[in-house]
Amino acid sequence: MVETLLRNNLAWAERKRAQDPEFFSRLAAQQTPRYLWIGCADSRVPANEIIGLDPGEVFVHRNIANLCPPADSNFLSVLQFATEQLKVRDVLVTGHYGCGGVRAAVAGERLGLIDHWLQPIRDVYDEHVCDLKAIADEVAREDRLCELNVLAQVRAVAQNPFVHEAWRRGQELEVHGLIYSVRDGILNHLDVSVSGFDDLKKLFPDRPSALIGASV
Ligand SMILES: [Zn+2]
Repeated sequence: MVETLLRNNLAWAERKRAQDPEFFSRLAAQQTPRYLWIGCADSRVPANEIIGLDPGEVFVHRNIANLCPPADSNFLSVLQFATEQLKVRDVLVTGHYGCGGVRAAVAGERLGLIDHWLQPIRDVYDEHVCDLKAIADEVAREDRLCELNVLAQVRAVAQNPFVHEAWRRGQELEVHGLIYSVRDGILNHLDVSVSGFDDLKKLFPDRPSALIGASV
């Protein structure tokens, strides 16, 4: 019931004020989050809670299967605002194991509009089909596709002109790939971080088009 939610909210706001009387007045003045979180809309993956951050500390963009499509105006608006106005320092592209979006992308069922949205995951699947088929266990195979999807989205963010513009301005901005497990609540780094054009070159040794327009 919505009334329950409102009661929960009142209790939460009172707790916050009791811990820090200036908390809301400080936040009302401005937001200065260090992080941009790009994650899945899945209800089991709430950004602030997982990484222990308060309101005001992480700018959040969520969609089904944590995608960063280069022509999605919602994602692009978030990325531009986060890099140009908020000047976030870290972009956390965060996938999760057991992602229903990733599963649906390759399950073969027709679901409607979401089939179009999930096409980038099928592209990732095609690119890695041999490695994926070599994984006998179905859950492990799906988990690997979730990881590969994060890596692909990190590449998409690292290739984005807004990110390149930030680097050209000399702004500190690092893109990370993370994966969360809904099974144990643990968030892991996928050991991919891109903090400038040198990293970008290493990430795309065989794809010169990724560096077009980059000031290297
Ligand atoms: Zn998901």
